[in-house]
Amino acid sequence: MKTPRIAIIGGGIGGLAAAVALRAHGVDVSVHERSAELKEIGAGLRLTPNALKALRALGLENEAMAVGVRMDRSVTRSWRSNGIISTQDTSATRYGASALTIHRADMLDLFRQRLPDQVTSLNAQCTGIEVHEDFAVARFADGSEIEANAVIGADGIHSAVRESLFGADKPRFTGCVCWRGLIPIDRYPHAANASTRWLGPHGHVVSYPVRRGELLNFVAHYDSDAWTEESWTREAERDELLHTYARWNDAVLRMLESAEGYFKWALYDRAPMDAWGKGRATLLGDAAHSMLPYLSQGSSMTLEDACVLAQEVARTPSDLADSLRRYERARMPRTRRAQLGSSARAKENHLASPLARFRRDLQTRWRARFGADRTPDGVSWIYDYDVASL
Ligand SMILES: Cc1cc2nc3c(=O)[nH]c(=O)nc-3n(C[C@H](O)[C@H](O)[C@H](O)COP(=O)(O)OP(=O)(O)OC[C@H]3O[C@@H](n4cnc5c(N)ncnc54)[C@H](O)[C@@H]3O)c2cc1C
Repeated sequence: MKTPRIAIIGGGIGGLAAAVALRAHGVDVSVHERSAELKEIGAGLRLTPNALKALRALGLENEAMAVGVRMDRSVTRSWRSNGIISTQDTSATRYGASALTIHRADMLDLFRQRLPDQVTSLNAQCTGIEVHEDFAVARFADGSEIEANAVIGADGIHSAVRESLFGADKPRFTGCVCWRGLIPIDRYPHAANASTRWLGPHGHVVSYPVRRGELLNFVAHYDSDAWTEESWTREAERDELLHTYARWNDAVLRMLESAEGYFKWALYDRAPMDAWGKGRATLLGDAAHSMLPYLSQGSSMTLEDACVLAQEVARTPSDLADSLRRYERARMPRTRRAQLGSSARAKENHLASPLARFRRDLQTRWRARFGADRTPDGVSWIYDYDVASL
């Protein structure tokens, strides 16, 4: 049988993870990235145990553990008192793999180091694809095109492949603005080993260490319709952030004021899609299921996608359309649940009324003690999953 040739559009975490996974199954892969280099924005990622199991399947778990920070629990605190509301166990003892916090650039490097240079074409902005019975064609902004046995759209939230297959999407502004920043740990050493979330009226703040604990990453979310740009690289003013959180506890304020630089973006929600692919083309990662960040599953589910895609292609390499449909059937219910769960969590995290927050916190503690999965956040269905057991 001839080795299948698969073209992946997008050289982010999803595109490179899929390339590594497919190559491990002997597939001839090319990655087409619009940027002039493979790079990631300066921000962190929380990878939950299901993501570490996917990295294990890709042979990269130990490398990831070496550059990230292992997180055996994550703590939820009150915006005002800083008191603990709940603690979520995320340990390998409970879930069969650790949770990890990692710098996005370090994560991308793990995959890049596994791929020969010739696999990736840079400055390759895909403008659309065409799907034929036995092959698919991707077209690029410079007028070039490539033909492959299948095309995978891993080109992120504003996917050109998705638009080509299904038309333009209609994201919904959530009314929430986010700020992010990185803090050298010596400027704010109190949180060196903790993954923390503070919940308050109209907003919440998340922080965790990355890069072997040298940096602290924070993301601060707040209900506001004063900013609607979705870009992740727009710089922001420190004073605006500090003003927004002025009534929050001192630990949060000291942390927010210590960052080296600030970025802000507006959060958009997208409904789960009814289909991801047609014929010899499909989507993967944010292109298929971008989700709000409240369950920390954007990258984690993307890594799972990459593993499942490669498994299904390896099963029927001579019938790629069938492989892609099986991949979609395996992935869509789980990613849909994560998308809807993340959206629901948005409301719970930002309750404005003190009574509603009191009730939520009581329910969280009750769930941790008596709930079906004995976790404050009801996340075992996410963390228990092992992509290798499919
Ligand atoms: C600040 C922030 C914090 C986050 N925190 C977490 C977290 O804690 N845990 C978690 O699991 N997830 C998190 N996420 C979500 C996670 O980053 C995404 O889900 C993940 O990056 C998706 O990977 P992807 O490869 O699908 O898309 P991207 O990472 O967006 O990669 C897409 C790639 O495609 C390229 N591209 C785009 N268009 C084209 C085109 N037309 N032609 C060619 N190339 C193209 C882009 O340049 C890019 O390299 C966070 C996201 C942000 C922004």
